Amino acid sequence: MRRRIAVVGSGPAGLTFARVLHRHGHPVTVLERDPAPDARPAGGTLDLHEGLGQRALDKAGLLADFQALSRPEGQAMRILDTDGTVLRAWRPRPDDRANPEIDRGHLRDLLLGPLDVQWGRSVTQVVPGRRDGVLVHFADGRQETFDLVIGADGAWSRVRPAVSPVTPHYTGVTSVETSLDDVDTRHRGLARLIGEGSVAVYGVNRALVAQRNSGGHVKVYAQFRAPLHWHANLDLDDAEAVRSGLLALFDGWAAPVLDLLRHGTAFVHRPLYVLPVSHTWTHVPGVTLLGDAAHLMPPLGVGANLAMLEGAELAESIATGPEDLDAAVRAFEEQMWARAGRWAEITAAGLERLVSANPAEALALFDQVQPS
Ligand SMILES: Cc1cc2nc3c(=O)[nH]c(=O)nc-3n(C[C@H](O)[C@H](O)[C@H](O)COP(=O)(O)OP(=O)(O)OC[C@H]3O[C@@H](n4cnc5c(N)ncnc54)[C@H](O)[C@@H]3O)c2cc1C
Repeated sequence: MRRRIAVVGSGPAGLTFARVLHRHGHPVTVLERDPAPDARPAGGTLDLHEGLGQRALDKAGLLADFQALSRPEGQAMRILDTDGTVLRAWRPRPDDRANPEIDRGHLRDLLLGPLDVQWGRSVTQVVPGRRDGVLVHFADGRQETFDLVIGADGAWSRVRPAVSPVTPHYTGVTSVETSLDDVDTRHRGLARLIGEGSVAVYGVNRALVAQRNSGGHVKVYAQFRAPLHWHANLDLDDAEAVRSGLLALFDGWAAPVLDLLRHGTAFVHRPLYVLPVSHTWTHVPGVTLLGDAAHLMPPLGVGANLAMLEGAELAESIATGPEDLDAAVRAFEEQMWARAGRWAEITAAGLERLVSANPAEALALFDQVQPS
């Protein structure tokens, strides 16, 4: 019997889930709050790891397409001291495909393919345990019932309250993001500073990270330890005020490094929130969570990877596993919790070292995880 399955959210988790189910010939309803795929900027670049995100794409039959679209050279990483001294300059071998980068927009389009997403469908609440299934409420007042609802709706999930009372908390580290366009023609000095992939500069409780996207676009992240409301006297909509505030915060750093902020265009404030490490819940028949909705962690390069692998694995076990849908979901949850718990610990410890009172910790972490 065909089950009525809905996934809330068309991020990496929801789309990978839907794409793998689709590959197995199972219908799935994708409910997305955004009114259209390009309704807001897609965001920066993602590195997809061989054993995680790339495995998920393989399960979706999309690995070859990913390899054609991704940027293996984007794995390159430079680390600078705050005075501009180059401390590390790592470049991948030409055949290195361990963690190639892909623009989020390209990944979204790749996953979307033939999927028929319902855009502009903002879920407000999910009520399990009804005789006819799980009831989904929408912002426009409509309601629909499904046999299984997957919450892949990110950090501030509206599905999560159906299984867990837990909400994200602030890490004490915030981030302000800005962008540069056409670096190779308009900002040649910065293009050399960034190299083919990323550059990171670590100071006392501060970091500046710049990452190349395709087409000469660069995203810059200024990260620092601060109270959540550090900007009480700053108008975050005033780009020049934010720029001056950041330049004051990073005062004393080398001028070529600060050019990353001087030439940035719009500034977006993104405080870093997380769910508690090893977040689990008592299984609720008919509802589960994937990705950030289940285990929001610091952005250290695994969130989207885990989200995609979970989406692919849950879809596979629904398509090929036991007839009992609930048994498939329970088994999946156990597997997800164990793996995500390990990564949540690693990334929490990683954030402590990357934005730390002792910048040598960040370099030591790089040396630990990066092959020489
Ligand atoms: C600066 C930064 C850099 C990062 N870099 C990396 C990286 O290199 N590698 C990596 O693996 N991870 C990275 N991450 C983490 C990664 O972005 C997330 O872990 C990943 O996007 C989670 O995917 P998701 O599908 O679970 O959620 P999301 O990507 O948040 O998608 C959720 C979707 O649900 C929709 N939605 C939300 N609420 C509703 C609702 N009520 N109704 C309907 N739809 C709704 C949203 O519009 C969205 O489309 C980074 C994160 C940040 C902030």
